[in-house]
Amino acid sequence: MPKPVILAVDDDPEVLNAVDRDLRQHFRADYQVLKVGSGTQALETTQQLKKRGRPVALFLVDERMPEMTGTQFLIEAIKLYPDARRVLLTAYADTETAITAINRIGIDHYLLKPWEPPSQRLYPVLDDLLTDWTAKTRPTFDGIRVAGTALSPTSFALKDFLASNQIPYEWVDLDHDAPTRELVDAMKDGRSKLPVVFFTDGSSLVQPTPRELAERLGLQTQAKQPFYDLAVVGGGPAGLAAAVYGASEGLRTILIEKYATGGQAGTSSQIENYLGFPSGVSGADLARRATTQAKRFGTEVLTAQDVSSIERHDPYRTVKLSDGSQLNCKAVLLAPGMEVRRLDVPGLESLVGAGVFYGAALTEAATYRGRDVFVVGGANSAGQGAMFFSRYARKVTMVIRGPRLGIHMSQYLVDRIQDTENVEVMTNTRVTAVRGTACLEAITFTNVESQESCEIPAAAMFIFIGTAPRTDMVANLVERDAQGFILTGRDLFVEGKRPKGWTLARDPFLFETSVPGVFAAGDARHGSGKRVASAVGEGSATVSMIHEYLETV
Ligand SMILES: Cc1cc2nc3c(=O)[nH]c(=O)nc-3n(C[C@H](O)[C@H](O)[C@H](O)COP(=O)(O)OP(=O)(O)OC[C@H]3O[C@@H](n4cnc5c(N)ncnc54)[C@H](O)[C@@H]3O)c2cc1C
Repeated sequence: MPKPVILAVDDDPEVLNAVDRDLRQHFRADYQVLKVGSGTQALETTQQLKKRGRPVALFLVDERMPEMTGTQFLIEAIKLYPDARRVLLTAYADTETAITAINRIGIDHYLLKPWEPPSQRLYPVLDDLLTDWTAKTRPTFDGIRVAGTALSPTSFALKDFLASNQIPYEWVDLDHDAPTRELVDAMKDGRSKLPVVFFTDGSSLVQPTPRELAERLGLQTQAKQPFYDLAVVGGGPAGLAAAVYGASEGLRTILIEKYATGGQAGTSSQIENYLGFPSGVSGADLARRATTQAKRFGTEVLTAQDVSSIERHDPYRTVKLSDGSQLNCKAVLLAPGMEVRRLDVPGLESLVGAGVFYGAALTEAATYRGRDVFVVGGANSAGQGAMFFSRYARKVTMVIRGPRLGIHMSQYLVDRIQDTENVEVMTNTRVTAVRGTACLEAITFTNVESQESCEIPAAAMFIFIGTAPRTDMVANLVERDAQGFILTGRDLFVEGKRPKGWTLARDPFLFETSVPGVFAAGDARHGSGKRVASAVGEGSATVSMIHEYLETV
């Protein structure tokens, strides 16, 4: 926690030094004492402190200053720090002004100069005010702050990026925080573009892209070397497992992740069937552990970097990134997994992030505390989502097209859902429209048998309706099936013949694609298990095949 600030302001250097000395002597263990020589400078300092998220406990300000009087300064400063205690330093002749200020802007005290001895005329008054301030102020979060408005798609996207990358932040809702709103309004573009991210050094970014934010936060976004033994595309369980095994076995390994490591698994609130975690493990926890493990063995992990294509320049492979940069390597592992299918119904697209969410959107749970939410989908991910939101929402309604739960869901989850009082299941139902102006207000449901429709008010809808592989980046490079899953090993053979263009004397390895040295693992691979364990298994198993391949190049 940062120490709260006591800001002393006086244009007379002698008085300023004296007050600074006395304040430090008594308060330095618990407070940071800052001194400033004018009202305008003090206002700049106060704005900087606010941007850095630093708490200010007390303003001790001389009344008679040129340019800006103490009272004028305090009128502005308390807009940013309404709870800070305010003390005016006055000469005897200013007593009248001080009394007016008490009535006008709620000065807590005025001190007559000189205040000798401080033990009697300074410390008791300030101790009293600071004790009061401490009792009424909640501790300040010492990290980045994201200021925006609730139910805003851009704010949601930014919070989701930070949460997925496990970067702690404080959310400041501008509709409920007048001082920060004041600060944002004063910034160029501030109110028209939200959110604004404030960093602890006082700097800020207005509506940054994930990559801008990642760079500003010190996440690696650029490769450090021009050449690697192994480039892994995708930081889900398959990619992370390959990175751990590859790097630990001496391969110069780089992993390129578009958004946040963990992939689909990272968005799961609780994975209960992964070996070795009898009480389950949250996706975020698993992602954090695996990423740390991969980095510990020397893997370079790029975040917020998108692979746009891969080219074959025998014997090397070139990985092209969407920012125009590229890197070369001997072998590539494709592990781009799957992405959620979009729900195509009238009214939905403009409400994504404003009450409509794809996946679990864990950052939003608290927003819907005590309200009625809907979870669309009937597979395990929807079941996990419903269980998670049941801890916050008044009622969770699962909407499924089939006649009962359990057709696509593990029995342990079906049992849990049935035992949870505030989760209901709406069977034989489809979402056919959504409505809302600034945020979701109601959903239209249609019964798949009777075709009857009804509109129900809703605070939020979380959509889990399946996934599709993300393999467009290699559409012109490797062979895929009709759904876009990457073909590997024996699946590449047609009527017993090796894939077109395959010139090597050997067959493709089990997880090798139609291009030698380009491998695929995890959910994006045709025929994969679509589970965390199978993705981890495939990612790790591929590394031994990559070693065999590397012996030949
Ligand atoms: C909500 C939810 C809950 C689940 N619960 C369970 C469970 O309890 N048990 C279980 O066994 N399985 C569960 N699964 C399934 C499991 O998470 C997946 O099978 C597993 O994550 C697949 O791993 P993967 O590495 O193949 O792909 P993914 O996890 O999909 O990861 C792929 C990664 O590649 C990145 N990527 C994609 N394209 C690019 C590109 N062009 N450039 C750079 N990076 C790219 C993506 O951003 C992503 O991070 C769940 C899935 C979901 C969505």
